[in-house]
Amino acid sequence: MNQPVEAHCDHCKQKRPLFLFTPDHGHLGADMFTCRWCTRDKQPLLCVRCWGTEKQLEENDPAINQGAETMQQICDTNARIDARRAARAAADRAACEAIAAAEQAGGAQ
Ligand SMILES: [Zn+2]
Ligand SMILES: [Zn+2]
Repeated sequence: MNQPVEAHCDHCKQKRPLFLFTPDHGHLGADMFTCRWCTRDKQPLLCVRCWGTEKQLEENDPAINQGAETMQQICDTNARIDARRAARAAADRAACEAIAAAEQAGGAQ
């Protein structure tokens, strides 16, 4: 690990060892073009305390949590659609087999 540079923190302006803040939440779709963490020209250099505060803010950002919730809803919906499609396919197959069986039985007479 590199020795942190000591300079003025971008938040509190105190002279302290600084660490580059990089957001680590993922994005789905267009959110990232409006996200305050991702659209910054340059991520800030922060002291440990400000870095921690920023991290908390990022983790508690309602827009990011909203994105995760939306993704969960999309996954749930897709899973439901898949399940319905599988049930339909199974029903179709059973119907075809029943018809084939009936035809065979009919032919045998
Ligand atoms: Zn600071
Ligand atoms: Zn973002």
